[in-house]
Amino acid sequence: MASYGTKDLTGKVCLITGASAGIGEAIAHRMVEAGAKVILIARRIAKLEEIKATLESTYPGAQVHCVKFDVKDLDQIGELRDGLPEEFRDIHILVNNAGVALGTPPAHENPIADVETMLRTNVSSVMAFVSTFAPGMVERNEGHIVNISSIAGHEAYPGGSVYCATKHAIDAYTTSMRHDLVGTNIRVTAISPGAVRTEFTLVRFGQDAEREDDFYKGFTPLNARDIADNVMYVTTRPQHVQVGDIVIYATKQSSAKSIAKNE
Ligand code: NAP
Repeated sequence: MASYGTKDLTGKVCLITGASAGIGEAIAHRMVEAGAKVILIARRIAKLEEIKATLESTYPGAQVHCVKFDVKDLDQIGELRDGLPEEFRDIHILVNNAGVALGTPPAHENPIADVETMLRTNVSSVMAFVSTFAPGMVERNEGHIVNISSIAGHEAYPGGSVYCATKHAIDAYTTSMRHDLVGTNIRVTAISPGAVRTEFTLVRFGQDAEREDDFYKGFTPLNARDIADNVMYVTTRPQHVQVGDIVIYATKQSSAKSIAKNE
């Protein structure tokens, strides 16, 4: 039997939101390693520039473009697109990765400002990036949209009301979009991780390092590279294969609140 032919990403442009840390940073490494050109987007431009320097020294010939951008600035995404250098304009892979969870209060105590931040970052921005970049994919009849969702998009847990609602929204949006694009060559994928140790939980716990440390104590969580590996898997399948969703847990986790802490 002939060997299984995977998709070559050499020279393809991959835009990653939330690339200054965690999962986004890990995806950038794997994409550049695979020969893709990457656009890195986040608010902390100094971190993006550091990552760019590391990528360029690790992978000679790496093509990396950084943009300081707050994904909540929905009405400026068009400007961001129009300002991209010519060689980065035709986005082949859009990875909607930027996301936040803020706190774990019960639903009736959620600060309105946090509700607004989570909805705009995790939901509205994903939709706005798709509205801005997917028309070009449709025109070229090629592309892949990867939304980094969460197991919080598949279950709802106490203390996660807004975050779970945002990821459920992404799950529904991803499915609808797949229906809308079914007649094209554009693939649509969600990736839904369980606990991944990045800056995410520190941000969620308001930079309380002790609480964060306690959360991960006693089991081995996923790491950012595990999720980047999922992204590489889905984007390098042959063109006729469309992965809908990958739900990925640490071995000692079976739901948001079911973690076996015995290590
Ligand atoms: P992380 O380490 O906290 O990284 C989050 C990234 O998003 C950072 O690069 C941050 O960059 C960026 N970001 C946040 N708000 C932004 C904004 N308004 N504008 C632009 N960029 C923004 O978290 P992570 O774990 O890698 O999370 C990535 C995705 O995975 C998120 O969608 C999250 O919901 C999802 N996820 C995470 C876990 C987990 O346990 N870690 C589990 C399931 C799903 P700046 O601060 O520089 O802007």
